[in-house]
Amino acid sequence: MSKISTQKAFIFLGAPGAGKGTFSQIFVSKFGWVQLSTGDLCRKHIAQGTDLGKQIDFAIKSGKLVDDVVIIDMVSQWVDEHIKMAPGIIFDGFPRTLVQARLFLELIQKRFSELVVNVIQFEIPDSLIIERLSARKTCSNKQCQAIYSLLEQSTQKSQKNGICDKCGSVLMQREDDKSETVAARLQIYHQHAQPLLDFYKKNNFIIHRINAQAPLQAVQGELEMIAGI
Ligand SMILES: [Zn+2]
Repeated sequence: MSKISTQKAFIFLGAPGAGKGTFSQIFVSKFGWVQLSTGDLCRKHIAQGTDLGKQIDFAIKSGKLVDDVVIIDMVSQWVDEHIKMAPGIIFDGFPRTLVQARLFLELIQKRFSELVVNVIQFEIPDSLIIERLSARKTCSNKQCQAIYSLLEQSTQKSQKNGICDKCGSVLMQREDDKSETVAARLQIYHQHAQPLLDFYKKNNFIIHRINAQAPLQAVQGELEMIAGI
């Protein structure tokens, strides 16, 4: 039997707007990694009407949080399907809570012990997040959803003010990116981040602190080094 090669995995831990999505996309398109987003996965299960999807749909419709055990079942199934397909896995914003982290560690130890997990902690001040996200505009075309920034120093400015470079649709601000919403999202993030970090430390995860204010190329270089690319 052929030996299973070592699999790399990143857990991206960082505030909304810290750049997790950007670097996930780079690793997916450039290096063929796969990215787990539990939000997308929930929507997929609901759309396909799987047993897990039915449980998730029921929770959401009753205004409850989806049970962590259901989330872990879904993640387990997904990792199983993808672990041999790609050189690396990114867990983007997952585990979100301490309960999820405990169940995730158990899962790795029991079923995916070949995974080498690096926790990537994106460090960036809240004030900068608020500045970044409130200057973020998203293409209103649902098929496109390209993201731009109004910030003077940004490399993601659109050519024409308020118009998408890719499809010519009008740019808009997502509800999620409005400053009141961002402040609430940051508060939730901070509530969970420190207990998660303490848990990772206690359980000997490898933690890398990344300065997410650094230029994109620098952050990317650092991540490639950690991944051994
Ligand atoms: Zn567009």
